Amino acid sequence: MLKRYLLAPGPTPVPSEALLAMAMPIIHHRSPDFLPVLDAAKKGLQWLCQTKSDVLILCSSGTGGMVGSVNNFFSPGDKALVINAGNFGERWTKICNAYGLEVSELKLDWGSAVRPEDVEKALRKDPNIKGVFVQASETSTGVYHDIQAIASIVKKADNTILLVDAISALVAHDLRMDEWGIDVLIGGSQKGLMLPPGLAFVGISDKAWKFADTAKCPRFYFNFKKERETLAKNQTNFTSPVTLIIGLNECLKLLQKEGLDNAFARHARLAGATREAVKAIGLELFSRESHSNAVTAIKSPEGLDGQEIYKNLRVKYGITAAGGQGQARGKIFRIAHLGYADTFDIITAIAGVEMVLKSMNHPVKLGTGVAVAQELLMK
Ligand SMILES: *Cc1c(COP(=O)(O)O)cnc(C)c1O
Repeated sequence: MLKRYLLAPGPTPVPSEALLAMAMPIIHHRSPDFLPVLDAAKKGLQWLCQTKSDVLILCSSGTGGMVGSVNNFFSPGDKALVINAGNFGERWTKICNAYGLEVSELKLDWGSAVRPEDVEKALRKDPNIKGVFVQASETSTGVYHDIQAIASIVKKADNTILLVDAISALVAHDLRMDEWGIDVLIGGSQKGLMLPPGLAFVGISDKAWKFADTAKCPRFYFNFKKERETLAKNQTNFTSPVTLIIGLNECLKLLQKEGLDNAFARHARLAGATREAVKAIGLELFSRESHSNAVTAIKSPEGLDGQEIYKNLRVKYGITAAGGQGQARGKIFRIAHLGYADTFDIITAIAGVEMVLKSMNHPVKLGTGVAVAQELLMK
């Protein structure tokens, strides 16, 4: 038997409280049983997103939330500024192109974080830009973009909204939607929220709702204005993913018990220990600056294939981490510390990496990284 450890940046492990709740018989989504369930989920998500605005609950993976955020707020021909620093930045461009938006990219080397002043320059150069699209945590590179600084810039432009893909950042990073002025904040269930895949969340500011009034992109399944009206009645437009929403309430309860600040601090602590441990093994981080608290991307050592490291972790030791995506495939591997994660997930991951590297004849003294992680995680 090989015991399995899920240490990927989505899907992430689901706590037993949620698993048990999701094993209950199905309730009907139009019955009175469901109304308090959705009401609790709605309020819990507002707490998590630090907003008084509506947070829609969609039945889709996270990308559905991104798609809906393009076709509900924009019209074909509208100008979009996409911060493209990795696989998910690229996805924003692809979605905007699919709906006929005119995209200009702030394209960065993978591993870099955007400089907020470059966003300011781009907006000054073209005041007709209607949407700025960014990731909070770029999961493919392990980079965190400075959302607070970017929001303070976009906030000043009356005709521009900021859309943040926080699918891997939610729960791992402090993202203050109202205080900072994030207009559209997108989350997904299978990352920091510790649920199975299948839900997307979209928080929407008053400024963004005004964009929805004039947006002409075609839409049907993701119709945010209709979804908002239905949500006010504690319903969703189409059949609600009742099981996942019941699980969501359990995970929100766990997070509320921990406290938001403690959840952010836990992720920062785990991420920091992971980074120091891999450096102690002699490995290099792929993210050059501003690191994600959700996932650490690590360069595979000279002569070793990142996909092989990832594969060996899984096959030899049952540890499902992640390889590289797109242009980073083979060059890196990634370890997540996201959601239902704590001290011994990091110890397990680092111990596994050391053992795999040694087995691949890379010089590593077993226990080096583990010791560093232990020291840091005792604090
Ligand atoms: C996982 C992820 C997505 C995509 O989510 P799906 O649930 O696979 O659609 C988008 N953006 C980021 C930053 C992610 O980490």
